[in-house]
Amino acid sequence: MFESLSDRLTGALKDLRGKGRLSGADIDATCREIRLALLEADVALPVVRTFIAKIKERAKGAEVSAALNPAQQVVKIVNEELIGILGGETRRVQFAKTPPTVIMLAGLQGSGKTTLAGKLAKWLKDQGHTPLLVACDLQRPGAVSQLQIVGERAGAAVFAPHPGTSVGGGENPLGISAADPIEVARAGVEEARAKQYDVVVVDTAGRLGIDADLMAQAAGIRDAVQPDETLFVLDAMIGQDAVSTAEAFRAGVGFTGVVLTKLDGDARGGAALSVREVTGEPILFASTGEKLEDFDVFHPDRMSSRILG
Ligand code: GDP
Repeated sequence: MFESLSDRLTGALKDLRGKGRLSGADIDATCREIRLALLEADVALPVVRTFIAKIKERAKGAEVSAALNPAQQVVKIVNEELIGILGGETRRVQFAKTPPTVIMLAGLQGSGKTTLAGKLAKWLKDQGHTPLLVACDLQRPGAVSQLQIVGERAGAAVFAPHPGTSVGGGENPLGISAADPIEVARAGVEEARAKQYDVVVVDTAGRLGIDADLMAQAAGIRDAVQPDETLFVLDAMIGQDAVSTAEAFRAGVGFTGVVLTKLDGDARGGAALSVREVTGEPILFASTGEKLEDFDVFHPDRMSSRILG
């Protein structure tokens, strides 16, 4: 994860070691290196600009500290600013005061939503919750059965329409169409209320690219179930495209937090470092593999330490 960014940044900061005092020129040279490292990592340009301006200002104005030499002081500043662009404090899931808490997942097809639903279910169960997964991705062939498989692996119940039948079985007790993801979402939340599941995770359809139908459908589900959290699922490997995708989802559906997926395959880190600043919404979780346990709460401070080695 983030190997190349990490190498470049630690390289840039290493050059400062052994210097008794840092001149303005030293700081400028280091900032140039950091800037290149961030641009190479595909961090969004406005984010890079603000970041470098802050580092420069703070490094030049840094107090002479008895405890830290100048190089350590710059490392400390870079660390603090990295934590800042990653979101500062760890942001926890906001659970509803009156259950069920509704968590809706949105994102492009292939971003890892269905896999995430299983991971979240396991994580929620480990925290003592009883989640219900609701299959509203009725677009992608196999998405419903994939959710049923991850649900089973996580030991969580799945609410899904059967192909060609109504939601809830052949009798159609709810009188709704299995083909309508908005109705399925609504029925799923009702099911959770009736059967006392305290968290509902709604998996939604994604397309390969942004499109108006996808946004309208996701917005319809949002309006129907009024989620406590809408999580935008972002494949970290898409690099610069992350910014435009995130902005499109923010405008079309809106979200309260981000889940970064496929961090295990992301050597550069651009999406991770840009998404918080660009959207203003925090990163809540990180996925680092295909298995259910390759998943954790996102901690900006730990991530920064990892990047700086
Ligand atoms: P969806 O279309 O958004 O529901 O995406 P899926 O959950 O089907 O995931 C698409 C592919 O990405 C699958 O092959 C998953 O196994 C894989 N995947 C999901 N999350 C991760 C992750 O964190 N790391 C890796 N390496 N693969 C992942």
